[in-house]
Amino acid sequence: MRIETIAIHAGNMITDSNRPVIQPIITSTTFEHHENSPIYTRASNPNRLALEKVLTQLEFGKDAAAFSSGNAAAMAVFQSLDPQSHIIAPDDMYHGIRKQLVEVFKGIHEVSFVDMADINQVNASIKENTRLIWLETPSNPLLKICDIRNIARLAKGKNMILACDNTFATPVFQNPILLGADLVMHSTTKFLGGHSDILGGIIITNEKNAFWERLRMIQHVGGAVPSPFDCYLLTRSIKTLPYRMKGHFQNASKLAKFLTDHPSIEKVYYPGLQSHEGYKIASSQMTGFSGVLSVTIVGGAKEADRVIDKLKYFTNATSLGGIESLIERRAAVEGPDTLTPQNLLRVSVGLENIEDLIEDFDQALK
Ligand SMILES: *Cc1c(COP(=O)(O)O)cnc(C)c1O
Repeated sequence: MRIETIAIHAGNMITDSNRPVIQPIITSTTFEHHENSPIYTRASNPNRLALEKVLTQLEFGKDAAAFSSGNAAAMAVFQSLDPQSHIIAPDDMYHGIRKQLVEVFKGIHEVSFVDMADINQVNASIKENTRLIWLETPSNPLLKICDIRNIARLAKGKNMILACDNTFATPVFQNPILLGADLVMHSTTKFLGGHSDILGGIIITNEKNAFWERLRMIQHVGGAVPSPFDCYLLTRSIKTLPYRMKGHFQNASKLAKFLTDHPSIEKVYYPGLQSHEGYKIASSQMTGFSGVLSVTIVGGAKEADRVIDKLKYFTNATSLGGIESLIERRAAVEGPDTLTPQNLLRVSVGLENIEDLIEDFDQALK
């Protein structure tokens, strides 16, 4: 099966003689004991299994574990490590997961934040107790690119796990396991859900090993699992993912080009632009550059806020990956400890007509 076919068919697990065409929602928390039947919904549920199956196949993995949010998924990875493990993480990454590493795992694990766009920095920070390299590419919100293949080569044979937050790229444009990663993480809240109405996360593994058994145990026992309804909705959304992503990519590319030439824009951060520092690596590991870009506005934070106020079709709201365009001044959301430039706007380019979106930016930047 190819990607569009997997997206539609891999999540259906109907086996009865009375066959519905679509996997129905099974809200029962408990199941009559039978060989191979689910036992209790915190441990397993047919809708969750369907979701885990389709994402396992979309990311070319061996298994997947679904969680109630992207943060919960990432947390399970950090919890699965032995105490006092050293973790290497990017200097630009989703701020909520950075906060977990800094605040929640303080005293439990040791963390080095490095510029992962520079592989030498990654290599130099490897220590004897390094057990996890956590990548995010493209990164949130600076759209930095790191070289998954070459970082995987660094990690190989060293008793280290390479995990990649693939939320921005989605499995449509990037498959980290095929590039050498051990784990892939998604905030399914974003493009996979695609309609800004589901919170969720997932981890996909390339191998069912002892680490994976522990992560599965944490999923069951920790209990940060998605509801059958959320799993159903997400499985439904994934059926249109490849088509939605083509639209997000096309619109974001056109908007990035328009903004690049605009005198009110200091810099456009989009890995699909040849001027982007990571363009060459991005082109070698992604088949498309997805639907998020960031821009810095001439005139600082105040001017950036004014642009947001003038835009009609870009809602000032956090999150990304939905069919509707969103924009936010990221530093204002990340708070006082942010490393993000104050005049940076992160744009999630939706599926509206691109001419309307460009005209909207044109009038707002005047
Ligand atoms: C949103 C996001 C997360 C966190 O996911 P939640 O579903 O909000 O918990 C993690 N990584 C990236 C890149 C994100 O954009």
